[in-house]
Amino acid sequence: MISKVLIANRGEIALRIILACKEMGLATVAVHSEADRDALHVRYADEDVCIGPALAKQSYLSISSIIAAAEITGADAIHPGYGFLAENPHFAEIVGECQLTFIGPTPNAIRLMGDKAKARETAKNAGVPILPGSDGPVRSVEDAIDVSRTIGFPVILKASAGGGGRGMRICSDEAMLQSAYETARSEAERAFGVADVYIEKYLEHPRHIEIQVFGDSHGRVVSLGERECSIQRRHQKLIEESPSAIVTEALRKRMGEAAIKLCQNVSYVNAGTIEFLYQDGEFYFMEMNTRIQVEHPVTEEVTCMDLVKEQIRVAAGEPLSVPFGDFHLRGHAMEFRINAEDPVTFAPNPGKIREFHMPGGPGVRVDTAAYRDYVIPPYYDSLIAKLIVRGKDRQETIARARRALDSFVIEGVKTSIPLHRAIIEDARFIRGDISTRFMEDFAWRLES
Ligand code: ADP
Repeated sequence: MISKVLIANRGEIALRIILACKEMGLATVAVHSEADRDALHVRYADEDVCIGPALAKQSYLSISSIIAAAEITGADAIHPGYGFLAENPHFAEIVGECQLTFIGPTPNAIRLMGDKAKARETAKNAGVPILPGSDGPVRSVEDAIDVSRTIGFPVILKASAGGGGRGMRICSDEAMLQSAYETARSEAERAFGVADVYIEKYLEHPRHIEIQVFGDSHGRVVSLGERECSIQRRHQKLIEESPSAIVTEALRKRMGEAAIKLCQNVSYVNAGTIEFLYQDGEFYFMEMNTRIQVEHPVTEEVTCMDLVKEQIRVAAGEPLSVPFGDFHLRGHAMEFRINAEDPVTFAPNPGKIREFHMPGGPGVRVDTAAYRDYVIPPYYDSLIAKLIVRGKDRQETIARARRALDSFVIEGVKTSIPLHRAIIEDARFIRGDISTRFMEDFAWRLES
């Protein structure tokens, strides 16, 4: 039984989890840094505990402070959200050892999938297609060259412990690989504490299509369809949608079955996402994220499910609420990530929000912890709101997105709203003719 949930996170996801708890009649505990005293998640929670200074290392990443906050307040479960400690197996282990329920997968599953080179191997053993590449991390630059000659250039060097779009190098020939190898290793060591890098064939115009999975502690795993996340900047997602414009019922079934097979192989419990790259009719496993994703609302809108409530129920030992039998996505949904950043250079732009007006009306949802006069601290992620729109089909969804983006007012800081407004007017975007290279070819001017 879970009766009081501590949310080990901040921002929109902390608020999102609090809302789910409220609907379930569960008490909530917010934790916050000194910089987040005025944050909305603190105001919405039943109780709150300051866990340290602004720097995440000393607050949102401090395992001992978070466990102490849970003990002081008598919380019996911890939801990690995404980012921070969400995919730290050590944290999940300690939560369990303290007789608290971790609302997420087991430490073992997190550990196995957290190493991207190992996850590739696990996927391969489960019979899930992977891109040609190295078997595990490469041992030397000679090894890297050997593998690349066999699979053919271009290749991509990836940090085994990488994430968040960081720790990747594209190499189009041997000379580039020679010079990138050591730099990639030392960058990986510095950013993630592990120098290991592995090699994958680099696809020139793939689509990023991921499958939302859910497992329960009774051995059942389901696929909740796909999200396409091909609109990215610097390998980070900007717009996500479900269903994908190109996924047929047959392809959805094939991808879903591959994702389920992989989860069953690692006895996966709770929410997870299997990311694939898709090109020329084939899909390839890229990585698994063992947490709730930023873009989970898109799936919620087309499945009529509340994924966060489902996470809590499953963590409490209940079976999945997904009905047995055929599963269909209903309508279409898109999410636009609204970051406090310069829409042209992508430089973060924290500061005070002087005016804030959210759009509403049919099919519009905004997940945010921002408000008028809120001061966005410079210490954390630049995501300040997610605009989620739903329609009966892709066309209606884009029309709703257009009017919602037009009436979304955020003043005082620069945001990605103007960029989103430009993207949804692009003929290729409207046709659904997109790939992860979309933004490279996208030319637009910021209207003043
Ligand atoms: P992270 O864990 O940092 O998010 P991913 O492995 O999920 O990294 O990759 C992020 C993005 O990088 C993908 O969505 C895609 O745009 C690009 N990418 C990754 N691997 C490849 C590849 N083999 N070929 C082409 N693009 C890739």
